[in-house]
Amino acid sequence: MPPPVAAGKWFRFNGFIAQHETTSRHGDRARTATRLAALVAREEAIYRERNPRSVALAARGLPGFHGGVPMHWMHDWPMPVPLIVADAGGATLTDVDGHVYDDFCLGDTGAMLGHSPPAVTAAIVRQAPRGLATMPAGEDAALVGGLLAERFGLPHWQVATTATDANRFALRVARAVTGRPRILVFNGCYHGSVDETFVRLIDGRAAHRPGLLGQFVDLTQTARVVEFNDLAALEAKLAHGDVACVITEPVLTNSCMVLPDPGFHDGLRRLTRATGTLLLIDETHTISSGPGGYTRAHGLEPDLFVLGKPIAGGVAASAWGFTDDVARRLDAANATVTHGYTGMGTTLSANPLALAAMRAMLEEVMTDDAYRHMDARAAALEAGLVAAIARQRLAWHVVRVGARVEFVCARFEDVVAGGGFADPAA
Ligand code: PMP
Repeated sequence: MPPPVAAGKWFRFNGFIAQHETTSRHGDRARTATRLAALVAREEAIYRERNPRSVALAARGLPGFHGGVPMHWMHDWPMPVPLIVADAGGATLTDVDGHVYDDFCLGDTGAMLGHSPPAVTAAIVRQAPRGLATMPAGEDAALVGGLLAERFGLPHWQVATTATDANRFALRVARAVTGRPRILVFNGCYHGSVDETFVRLIDGRAAHRPGLLGQFVDLTQTARVVEFNDLAALEAKLAHGDVACVITEPVLTNSCMVLPDPGFHDGLRRLTRATGTLLLIDETHTISSGPGGYTRAHGLEPDLFVLGKPIAGGVAASAWGFTDDVARRLDAANATVTHGYTGMGTTLSANPLALAAMRAMLEEVMTDDAYRHMDARAAALEAGLVAAIARQRLAWHVVRVGARVEFVCARFEDVVAGGGFADPAA
């Protein structure tokens, strides 16, 4: 099965409606909204009719689960009843009613290089009878650190269970080695459910993102926030001297997709170095850029580096790396502590199954050939979308980051001016 192309979040149907309404060329929002509501109702009826098994299994939600699904993000999909998946392989997904879909979501990039790559399946089958939670490392671990270092150029690595965890641990290290309290994020960012990244810029000031549950700590005391690409604002915030680390994706992919302006990454690196601030590049999504991610493709020089989602082919795992300088300072910080818990690591982190799957991905799946294939398919998709949008003379746009393509039902300028979608999420 050829590796797929990781297309964008077309399934964010509610966002689509909101954006379409605001950018309607006809100016008649009410009429557009009525037509869209009728379209949604029609599609929902067709869905119910065509998916009797999904409806039978989940019409009142899946039994036992609060809200009817095992993880509440599953409500983000637009279907009236959850789609129940029977099978997924390569770039296709089959539901329990036998419909086969070309999967442009790919597990929100968890399956960016395809569902169940054969090499990962074989690694799982090999490891499964040999222990799943051993704690001491196995033989695959003897190889994986070297593979990560060779591919991504950072000499020191740790394995965690999710990109969220990897970001949390890397930020803890940044604070430990700089002795500074705050982090800095860009407006519209998403780095997993890391508390202090849940801030937005409202009228030039940091504010909590809407929707946070149980938030009792004032996150604006722990994070600074500026617009992506705004080097002047970044310089002003870093001048306070209290920021341990800037955490960013190389391209802002969770707020539609906002590309870096020419020179932005050079400026970001120059300003962070000048102020003794560490730079964390989160490649969880932009690993679509190539076998070494956006960082290798564009010669970025992060101090800390995070990979997640597809790095173990869908097995829960993430990896975070850092420089010699950070390692030396981390060791020095650790040496001052004689006992206690570092606040990093979880019981199932770096378990043998995760390491076996990660090794298979690095050795056999994330190859130059696979990326060449994905890139070519993504370029074809991009060209087709651009042509279709032009044919319809719509004020929409397409963004591609290597193997990932997203079409956005708004002009790029409007998205940037609006700080991306109102509530960027995973
Ligand atoms: N970083 C980025 C850039 C992400 O987009 C996401 C999730 N979409 C995460 C981190 C968190 O990943 P996870 O949910 O697997 O922890």
